[in-house]
Amino acid sequence: MLSNLLQEDRTFEPPAALAADANLKAEAYARAEADVEAFWAEQADRLTWTQTWDRVLDWDHPPFAKWFVGGTLNAAYNCVDRHVEAGRGDKVALHFVGEPVDPELSGTRSITYAQLKDLVSQAANALTDLGVETGDRVAIYMPMIPEAVVAMLACARIGAPHTVVFGGFSSDALASRLEDCQAKVVVTSDGGYRRGSASALKPAVDEARAKAEGLGHTVAKVLVVKRTGQEVDWDDAVDVWWHDAVDQASTEHTPEAFDSEHPLYVMYTSGTTGKPKGILHTTGGYLTGTAYTHWAVFDLKPETDVYWCTADIGWVTGHSYIVYGPLTNGATQVLYEGTPDSPERGRWWDIIEEYGVTQFYTAPTAIRSFMKQGREIPDQRDLSSLRLLGSVGESINPEAYMWYREVIGGDRCPIVDTWWQTETGAMMISPLPGVTAGKPGSAMKALPGIAADVVDENGDSVPNGSGGYLVVKGPWPAMLRTIWGDDERYRDTYWSRFDKQGFYFAGDGAKKDADGDIWLLGRVDDVMNVSGHRLSTTEIESALVSHPKVAEAAVVGAKDEDTGQAVCAFVILRDSAGDGGDDIVSELRKHVRKEIGPIATPRQIMVVAELPKTRSGKIMRRLLRDVAEHREVGDVTTLADSSVMDLISSGLDQGK
Ligand code: ATP
Ligand code: MG
Repeated sequence: MLSNLLQEDRTFEPPAALAADANLKAEAYARAEADVEAFWAEQADRLTWTQTWDRVLDWDHPPFAKWFVGGTLNAAYNCVDRHVEAGRGDKVALHFVGEPVDPELSGTRSITYAQLKDLVSQAANALTDLGVETGDRVAIYMPMIPEAVVAMLACARIGAPHTVVFGGFSSDALASRLEDCQAKVVVTSDGGYRRGSASALKPAVDEARAKAEGLGHTVAKVLVVKRTGQEVDWDDAVDVWWHDAVDQASTEHTPEAFDSEHPLYVMYTSGTTGKPKGILHTTGGYLTGTAYTHWAVFDLKPETDVYWCTADIGWVTGHSYIVYGPLTNGATQVLYEGTPDSPERGRWWDIIEEYGVTQFYTAPTAIRSFMKQGREIPDQRDLSSLRLLGSVGESINPEAYMWYREVIGGDRCPIVDTWWQTETGAMMISPLPGVTAGKPGSAMKALPGIAADVVDENGDSVPNGSGGYLVVKGPWPAMLRTIWGDDERYRDTYWSRFDKQGFYFAGDGAKKDADGDIWLLGRVDDVMNVSGHRLSTTEIESALVSHPKVAEAAVVGAKDEDTGQAVCAFVILRDSAGDGGDDIVSELRKHVRKEIGPIATPRQIMVVAELPKTRSGKIMRRLLRDVAEHREVGDVTTLADSSVMDLISSGLDQGK
């Protein structure tokens, strides 16, 4: 059982005006509990179905679920056409903010729903002309440009599951995904802009295609958007320019209705804990889950809101909360190509000010990096349009929560800390902004319709005040349907951890506080055992981050002769702290002892400049464990910056 370390007493009531006008009210919890299938059927009614389902859930062969059985629909029609048909064609769907490198090429561009419908229809026609048929897989390897969204929706429109591969990945990573899901076509661009200069993408596709060939898989066509205008190698038999194929295609395209369980996409997990898994999502249930949660958790008022999610479409957050959720709901949103700190460190806040962003959704890693720089930068901007803030990807440390709330949210915006996974497809645990009194660091309660709980080894619910394993008791519409091509691994990984039938094992540790609210405590694999006490990474990291000199912290357990394992911490200091001073290590050890207790005191604290993170910004603790235990560092292919590990190791040699 996990020890319960940190104490948090601060709570923040929802703003009265938001509460009064909230999309989802408190009664929803009871209503969902009384008849969960009726509740989900009501959510599915947010979509436009060609044929209504005749059964909400088929769970006759667990863990293989079917939702909205017999129903048919088209995902792209739901995201685009129906808004145009309802007279909202002139409404902006995407405010594209490109890197301001070359105003002619990038700049900004606002795309209405009517324009998006034409673009998606053209791309659907073009893909069909390239030989893509219903059921064929299409890989998308692109920067954050509107064509990436268009390509995804075009695939959905013709029933060809897409697999988006993050544009920062290597040709090896791309090749293995092309092979794993047997992609027929790749959609890419010549390159993209990052920090003011053009970087190439097409060469990686050329390489990946050759590597996939070596693995026995042939890619038939590569569709290439001209983004930067840089030189590219060209194979006439395979390569096709987007402007030739798509721009010339007809804007007329009749969307076909597909079965509710028709595959929508395969998304590979972030790879924080190991080799990424190809997660399959299908159409009706997934769209229901993303539309419902985006509407409820962000309290979306599509007529007046301007929503912005900073994720890359190469991650599930980009799929669910840039593409499918917001567009199904007819939202107006910002789509941003660049990085947070280029051309200057206030770039994000400028965008919020310029577009009047109302809901802002980002990751704790970004918040902590802004904390590191100091509040002067956001303080110079007018962020008064914001009315709600979201967080996803890792636990948000209470200190980071407070900073986000006060500095970015002006002490007025509620924060929704949303726990979910690639596998869950949509948010699972989160405050409801008009209902829940938020607590810094807690994801609070499972959303109406979701049965999340914290259980012990035997799968029994733990009492309030205790920790254990996070589970979901039973199926939900947006759940993964399998691991692509590996039903056995799907069953073993997620549904076999407990003897109890239908328990989904998330792989995360969690606790219930005295009120029964849920706190995520990090990966079960990362739990430390110090003298028989099971300690979570998150709580000790949060204690470190609560020290005024610390911006970011990662904690791992390393073998120890006396205590079994000992706590080893890696910390990044805030800019204002300089090098922290001579006593920084003992100061921080004392701080943790005071905040948590002697048991959690780190044996070793290392001040570092960077931490190893995945491309989606999650700390890869397994690599730090390798360092702490003086081992060869393991697989780094999903690491954002591979030089970070050398930096950390060399810093250690110098004894800091
Ligand atoms: P892999 O499964 O390949 O190791 P990954 O788990 O990092 O990769 P994702 O599906 O992108 O891939 O991440 C889901 C995980 O992110 C969750 O299991 C959880 O550990 C973490 N997470 C996401 N949101 C939150 C949150 N709000 N609070 C705490 N943890 C979160
Ligand atoms: Mg995972």
